[in-house]
Amino acid sequence: MSKLKIRTYPDPILKKKAKEIDKVDDETGDLVTEMKRLMREGDGVGLAGPQAGVSKRIFIIDASDGKGVRVFINPKICKKKGKQVGEEGCLSLPGLEVEIKRAKSLECEFLDNKGKEQKLKVSDLLATIIQHEIDHLDGKLLVDKVGWFKRYKLLKEYEGLKKSKEGEQNVLEKMIG
Ligand SMILES: [Zn+2]
Repeated sequence: MSKLKIRTYPDPILKKKAKEIDKVDDETGDLVTEMKRLMREGDGVGLAGPQAGVSKRIFIIDASDGKGVRVFINPKICKKKGKQVGEEGCLSLPGLEVEIKRAKSLECEFLDNKGKEQKLKVSDLLATIIQHEIDHLDGKLLVDKVGWFKRYKLLKEYEGLKKSKEGEQNVLEKMIG
């Protein structure tokens, strides 16, 4: 697989609904390897296929909980409970920080990196990351989760950050992906 790079807004691939992966094979393994490299380089805790320029329903998470990097293929959320609000950053919108309301806990189904069906119950930060990454698979970014006026202000701020090199200093310590 050729070297991939992180796509940032307004790359059109970020707006596309990603396609399911039919078969988990060596090609998927190569993609995961590349995605891990990008996530580490970007210092993120998660990365979705479209962010690596591959419009497929896959994301990876490294929540630093001792479980290593986890791979989620064709993920589906089957239950959501409660609410939580938190500031989120995104490797595809470097420098922005957006307050987002999400479910506090969830149950999801997915295939792991071996193509085996898995079911997972998570809450708090892990639940936030999973919802953030699934949004990427549906072509939704943080700026699509807020009202039009907030969106306008955020995109203006983003343009400003892109133009000035100071943007690099503004990058969040913790990017969700
Ligand atoms: Zn993101």
